Amino acid sequence: MRFVSTRGHAAPASLDDAIAAGLAPDGGLYLPERIATVDGDRIALPPPSDDLAPTAAALLAPYFAGSRLRDALPAICAAAFDFPTPLRPQRGDGDHLLELFHGPTAAFKDVGARFLAEVMARLRGADDPDITILVATSGDTGAAVGAAFHRRPGFRVVILYPDGRVSPRQAHGLGCFGDNVRALRVAGSFDDCQRLVKQALADADLRARAPLGSANSISLGRLLPQAAYYAHSARAHEAAHGGPLNYVVPTGNLGNALACWLARAMGLPIGDIVLASNANDVLPRYFAGADYAPQPSVATLANAMDVGAPSNFERLRAWHASDDAVRAAMRAVAVDDAAIADAIRTAPAHHGVVPCPHTAVGLHVLDALRAAGDARPWAVVATAHPAKFDTIVEPLVGHAVTPPAPLAAQLARPAHAEPMAVDYDALRALLLD
Ligand SMILES: *Cc1c(COP(=O)(O)O)cnc(C)c1O
Repeated sequence: MRFVSTRGHAAPASLDDAIAAGLAPDGGLYLPERIATVDGDRIALPPPSDDLAPTAAALLAPYFAGSRLRDALPAICAAAFDFPTPLRPQRGDGDHLLELFHGPTAAFKDVGARFLAEVMARLRGADDPDITILVATSGDTGAAVGAAFHRRPGFRVVILYPDGRVSPRQAHGLGCFGDNVRALRVAGSFDDCQRLVKQALADADLRARAPLGSANSISLGRLLPQAAYYAHSARAHEAAHGGPLNYVVPTGNLGNALACWLARAMGLPIGDIVLASNANDVLPRYFAGADYAPQPSVATLANAMDVGAPSNFERLRAWHASDDAVRAAMRAVAVDDAAIADAIRTAPAHHGVVPCPHTAVGLHVLDALRAAGDARPWAVVATAHPAKFDTIVEPLVGHAVTPPAPLAAQLARPAHAEPMAVDYDALRALLLD
């Protein structure tokens, strides 16, 4: 399979080249030239089991046809997906949580980051110069990418995050790696960080002198594997109950929700998809009929979703013939901070869980669906562990939340981040250093 740019002005690329490049040369994002389907491509999914890896390997095989890594795909999946992604029934009838926070940095970003690292490590030639993975993060991506590439020979990681806009534990997690992982705390927003990274990736002169790789949600190597946990959970639900599962996806850059859409387009038993946004309501406004209009991001309790210009929108739009077709494919709801706080406070009694603020955005949307009489089965995607956001969650639920073991280990290490202005020349100089 070949991969084409959303903007249509770049030559089709192999998967390996598309992953290595990150951004297409015309500034667009890479897409598979067609969406493989379970029926059309005779994707032989294994029987539902606890193990995500075999499902992922079967699901992604059509996209790896023509890749140098085709035969390595099962091993890549086994190495990347070495933690569980359980679909857990909740207290309410038909309510589920898809728990994606059991990886090394306690957020779903571990799935894509670990897969990408396994792919890039295998694509790298023994004599290739070191690659610097450049990553802008609203909090969780940077840690996941740092963890996935930490001490991997041939790779360095430079993380840019908005200073003061990530939780204290997120900041610690970004700065705790050291070795080949460098954290920059930028005096600006996530959108500023993302712009700097895009500018560097589009800088041909820089790339000729300092080989760069991308690990943002614009990278195909992160987007594609995320479809696996939707396929896995939807099939598990179908095997147990029959019929499709509907999903509420806490949404920022739209990578996670787009993977859900992709899994549905591939023919998996997925029903409705609702995007749960925070006060950064570019997508809810668009889905309500307005033009797509990126805005400066505003800070909210669900900081990993503080995105004013969701980069994967370009993919979603390119995959549909018109704006109306996009609007028919899913819905989006905005949830303000007061409602997020309320959802965290009430979740232990209503749902039997303590959610992170992002998961709480989704739970609020589910509560609203139930209040409106929707009786269908729904899964809210639990995108991070609440202990990562202890300063927000603990006062609202009134007790301490114990960090899972990998998070506790990170918190026990010292952390360091370097200050940086929103200044492309400064970033460029640092990358050439
Ligand atoms: C990144 C992130 C999101 C948003 O996911 P997108 O793919 O950017 O839409 C939601 N919750 C958490 C905890 C995250 O880290």
